[in-house]
Amino acid sequence: MNAPNQSGWKPEMGEAGTSGSGPATASGNRALQLEEPLIFELGTRANCGVDFGQEPGEVAPELGKHLRKEPLTLPGLTEPETVRHYTRLSRQNYAIDLGPFPLGSCTMKHNPRLNEKVARMPGFADIHPLQPMDTVQGAFEVIEQLSEWLCKLTGMSAVAMTPKAGAHGELCGILAIRAALEARGDAREVILCPESAHGTNPATAAFAGYRVEDIPATKEGRVDLEALKARLGPDVAGVMITNPNTCGLFERDMKAISEAVHAAGGLVYCDGANFNAIVGKVRPGDLGVDAMHINLHKTFSTPHGGGGPGSGPVVLSEALAPFAPTPFVRRDERGRMRLVEERAAKDLLPDSFGRMTAFHGQMGMFTRALTYMLSHGADGLRQVAEDSVLNANYILRSLEDVLDAPYGASGPCMHEALFSDRGLAEGFSTLDIAKGLIDEGYHPMTVYFPLVVHGAMLVEPTETESKQGLDRLIASLRAVAERAKAGDESLKSAPHYAPRRRLDETLAARKPVLTWEEPETPAGIPVASEIGGS
Ligand SMILES: *Cc1c(COP(=O)(O)O)cnc(C)c1O
Repeated sequence: MNAPNQSGWKPEMGEAGTSGSGPATASGNRALQLEEPLIFELGTRANCGVDFGQEPGEVAPELGKHLRKEPLTLPGLTEPETVRHYTRLSRQNYAIDLGPFPLGSCTMKHNPRLNEKVARMPGFADIHPLQPMDTVQGAFEVIEQLSEWLCKLTGMSAVAMTPKAGAHGELCGILAIRAALEARGDAREVILCPESAHGTNPATAAFAGYRVEDIPATKEGRVDLEALKARLGPDVAGVMITNPNTCGLFERDMKAISEAVHAAGGLVYCDGANFNAIVGKVRPGDLGVDAMHINLHKTFSTPHGGGGPGSGPVVLSEALAPFAPTPFVRRDERGRMRLVEERAAKDLLPDSFGRMTAFHGQMGMFTRALTYMLSHGADGLRQVAEDSVLNANYILRSLEDVLDAPYGASGPCMHEALFSDRGLAEGFSTLDIAKGLIDEGYHPMTVYFPLVVHGAMLVEPTETESKQGLDRLIASLRAVAERAKAGDESLKSAPHYAPRRRLDETLAARKPVLTWEEPETPAGIPVASEIGGS
């Protein structure tokens, strides 16, 4: 293997490397499009960013047999080289601060800087979960105020604040349902999920030990109420329904669904990840919901790029509130806030199903979400729902002449517009449209989900995009869709202007290479062990 130069370009990168037309460059870079190898492939083992100062034998003799015998296999880089490596990598990434992120169901919206300012206040940012309670009263008040807002917005009795993501919230809700059923001596075995359910719903039910059964959808893209009613019975613990659903539609029969499930002795879980479409307009408690998670990292604008950190509080009905997890925050007779852990909960909440997480939830997300709520106020939150729905309908109606909208005739959509691959030229697919959108400078929309639509494309603009921004996104989507309909072959090898082109995603998922193997040392470059580890 060649010793890479500073920029990391290697001749074999060739076609797979930085693309685009124009003459080749010696470095492999294209102006601000920078090639970047792994950090281990940069620099040499002769360098080290850390000055150890002592011979290994003299360091901490008390470590005895635990003293390191092999050289530390850290990349040999100086601090500026390290900083530049990560900065160059960050420039290959698409981010919400660069442009719209129209990922349906993921709700990627602008993260207001006010949120960040509040989250960085030392009273929130520098506290420790094991600090004496008297010293973190303000943090507890944030949790209490946020809880009140969440209960008020959803019309529910209680909220479990500790779950750390939507899927974790689902598990919390299902465990509460199981605890409630077991408390009345009625252990049931089945959870019903609609065909269009988010993948986490059946996964959660199965993880909690339930058997999962599908409920079919109607032609309109909603839960088939009659089929659901026909399946209900003494073995059904409950249903998990996403509302608004993953076809971007409101489940109008939600009340009838809840009534039927309750009449059959079951409980209703609502997947509230998409609450941004209805916040301030509908209270799930009024629809008969017993438990629902809310993704603070979606509806309430807390950041969630790169998989976290999320926060998935679960609101609970009166029937489920006694089974909520510990710990929780309570105000005592003297008005002091305190955290109720297991031991004290034995008196206050004897039926609690137990603990979900090590500590008390995602404090940084709580402060950001509450900031978003307070800066909008009640009327502003209603406008969040109205604007996100308006934006999605604008996209749906602006593109339905070039892209097939399978439920376009079912009426207005909610916060996301759903298209299919019908009508694309022979041999062209949803994937080609997604890759073409990368060349246009956008992160692709959600593709091939929901599964009930062939070649699905789920576009969610959110309320934070302006009309001008939407018009630009629509123009790009339209141009790419027209190329796919006209059979433009160049679309099949898109993206042409990205650092990488078409990767073998299946191979990457099935056989991921997660460790770096040290290559044979090129002659003449000493490794750390040869120079005494200094
Ligand atoms: C995002 C989402 C989830 C899962 O939330 P995570 O925070 O990613 O665990 C569940 N259901 C729906 C409908 C979602 O959009």
